[in-house]
Amino acid sequence: MHELYTALAEYYDAIYRGRAERVKEEIDFVEEIFREDAGRRVSRVLDLACGTGIPTLELAERGYDVVGLDLHGEMLRIARRKAEGRGLSVEFLQGDALSINFEDEFDAVTMFFSSITYFDESAIKQLFNSVKRALRPGGVFIADFPAWHYSGRANPTVWDERKGEEGIVITDWRELEPAFQKLRFKRLVQIIRPDGSVRAFMVDDELNVYTPREMRLMAGSCFDDVRVYGNLKRDMGPRESRYWLVALKRA
Ligand code: SAH
Repeated sequence: MHELYTALAEYYDAIYRGRAERVKEEIDFVEEIFREDAGRRVSRVLDLACGTGIPTLELAERGYDVVGLDLHGEMLRIARRKAEGRGLSVEFLQGDALSINFEDEFDAVTMFFSSITYFDESAIKQLFNSVKRALRPGGVFIADFPAWHYSGRANPTVWDERKGEEGIVITDWRELEPAFQKLRFKRLVQIIRPDGSVRAFMVDDELNVYTPREMRLMAGSCFDDVRVYGNLKRDMGPRESRYWLVALKRA
């Protein structure tokens, strides 16, 4: 189920090359939320499900004191290597976001790139409670998640990338179960070596689909103030492709 974050961890940044190129814009937006929405000055940040550290290291680069946490050691190994290469000091911890046990420690908690959709309704409540506990008063939780029609993209979606000498061909198939609000995600990743030989990996994931209203209601039963914004602006349009949950702990 987690091949993308284990066997394919070394290929994650190449598969999502476009996203790594856009991360500065994302963190610009996150900093705007820190300034405009948070009830305290943000300096210490916990980045949950940090993966290979794409957003984590951008935050560190901008001077935040960042802790990254992820379930998979393979992803963290890459994140640590990148931090070292860029001369950044970030603490990376291996663990389950659902079992964090921080109290009053962070000015902000982040969870980027749809990672929050790994959690179903009951898990997400547990997540909200632990995140709120980890936050200092006035602290903010930020998580982005895709719009419902994300799954309505043409099936299959095929694209290719490169990593050094190797070619990567990615074929995605998404199937939505509207009644259960589950997105079944099947991905075939083919790694093609210069000699023409191929290694193939199957990724089989199940994600949860949430509407902005559902996210607002669920987060609202735990946090003191909840906003859902559209993509990269503190506002909401009728046709957003991605939403940003901003949940506040009272100052
Ligand atoms: N936030 C990163 C990575 C997103 S990929 C980015 O923006 O690039 C999703 C990540 O969630 C993977 O690295 C995976 O290992 C992690 N993950 C999945 N379930 C998790 C859990 N229960 N606790 C912590 N991390 C988890």
